[in-house]
Amino acid sequence: MKNFTIAIHGGAGTILKSSMTSEKEAAYKSALSKALNSGSQILSEGGTALVAVEDTVRLLEDSPLFNAGKGSVFTAKGTHEMDASIMEGKTLQAGAVAQIEGVKNPICLARMIMEKSGHVFLAGDGASDFARKMNCEFMDEEWFYDEFRYQQWQQIKDTDTFQLDHSTDKDHKFGTVGAVAMDINGNVAAATSTGGMTNKRFGRLGDSAMIGAGTYANNATCAVSCTGSGEFFIRGVVAYDVSCLMEYKGLSLEAACREVVHSRLLKINGDGGLIAVDAIGNIALPFNTEGMYRGWRKSNGEELIAIYK
Ligand code: ASP
Repeated sequence: MKNFTIAIHGGAGTILKSSMTSEKEAAYKSALSKALNSGSQILSEGGTALVAVEDTVRLLEDSPLFNAGKGSVFTAKGTHEMDASIMEGKTLQAGAVAQIEGVKNPICLARMIMEKSGHVFLAGDGASDFARKMNCEFMDEEWFYDEFRYQQWQQIKDTDTFQLDHSTDKDHKFGTVGAVAMDINGNVAAATSTGGMTNKRFGRLGDSAMIGAGTYANNATCAVSCTGSGEFFIRGVVAYDVSCLMEYKGLSLEAACREVVHSRLLKINGDGGLIAVDAIGNIALPFNTEGMYRGWRKSNGEELIAIYK
């Protein structure tokens, strides 16, 4: 069998063992494991990295444990505006969607945008029109509603504050989701999906929808999916920066990720992490927060599922 690799994240932030029950921890690990099973099944059957990352992120979107798709955070208006993006390393094709409401799986819409719209990035009402044209599945408000997220929003609702949903004082859980993979042909791909930040206003967009900031893939270097306070990841053009350090400076995946997450991001006070694979199947999962829901699996059966530092 030829080699493949897949890595996933479910968000980074103030995730502490002291604020987690063993039941909750088991639920997260089980959701991560289910997503890894599905992605590695696709890759083991010769499926492409693109299909594997889309499918894996779709499963994570359907889990209310994470801030993406079902269970997305509330905006200041009490709505759910989701962002997602996907990129294929072989062709450098990419698709992204921002401020989308009601679509069950924003990541599938991002892939349709990449393949069928003639564009890379669609947002808001126009993106909804395109989703309807593509017969994307829409869900009503109840599907996206999550009691914990609602309470989280209530606490900061009438303030100017917005926050990473897993960095509240009360509880430290949930997050943006992402997947990166290398398939048996050495092609890489990356996908990221999020509800963004609780109480976001004014049509705020995060890095998760932005190719180069939250998501990037290039067979010549690596595939990257980020999570954290999006404003810093946009300013640091983080996903592309990892790729650039490899391409222009000849850094290894590990060294490039370390430089970006533990040095460049910190210099601008950016908190978060990323997952990355290169075209020979190396994996890096650096983060500068207390925790990051994360996991990876290789074709030889080796795997890791972890939450804390
Ligand atoms: N990066 C996401 C955003 O800023 C949030 C997250 O990763 O949890 O929208």
